[in-house]
Amino acid sequence: MPRTFMKANIASLLGNVGATASFHFSENMDSIIADKGEARLARPVLVDVSLLNTGNRLLADFDVRADVVARCSRCLSEFTFPIRLKFKEEYKKAPETALKTQRLDGSEKPAGTGEAEDEAGNEIFAFYGDNIDFKEAVRQNLILALPMKFVCREACRGLCPVCGKNLNEGECGCSREEDSRWSPLRDVLDNLYRQSKS
Ligand SMILES: [Zn+2]
Ligand SMILES: [Zn+2]
Repeated sequence: MPRTFMKANIASLLGNVGATASFHFSENMDSIIADKGEARLARPVLVDVSLLNTGNRLLADFDVRADVVARCSRCLSEFTFPIRLKFKEEYKKAPETALKTQRLDGSEKPAGTGEAEDEAGNEIFAFYGDNIDFKEAVRQNLILALPMKFVCREACRGLCPVCGKNLNEGECGCSREEDSRWSPLRDVLDNLYRQSKS
């Protein structure tokens, strides 16, 4: 049976304002970046989370580390893209009425943790019972940390459009004259640039 490692029992924190607890998880989350083309996780995601009971909320302080193996969009070589994320989220215990309604209408026992809104309309997480599942918070924040396009380094020179050689490894000797059809456009841009400077 698959275990959900990112679940923590927080019963001892509830009703105990000022109480803290910390948890550590190591979980394979490959599926979260499955839609990012060729990117995959080099190892399980490491998650440290510290919880503080602030009264009617639990404040969660996350420290997440992940190594993504990605393919550079310019030179096509694989490289490791390290991610270190620190963020906070708030968790609020869902009211018992919500729990009862869901059970009375015959639906499944509600999922451990879901998204909700607080009184001010801010997005927070709601949990039922004594367990919090941190996976959704980690998933959302990791996805936000992934770039639209992976580039192995800012100065990556990419591949020669003529012979396909990786130009980071040296020149190939091809003459890569700029396509002359673009030169009128470049003249326009040059003029605009000069005008903006004068
Ligand atoms: Zn590259
Ligand atoms: Zn070349």
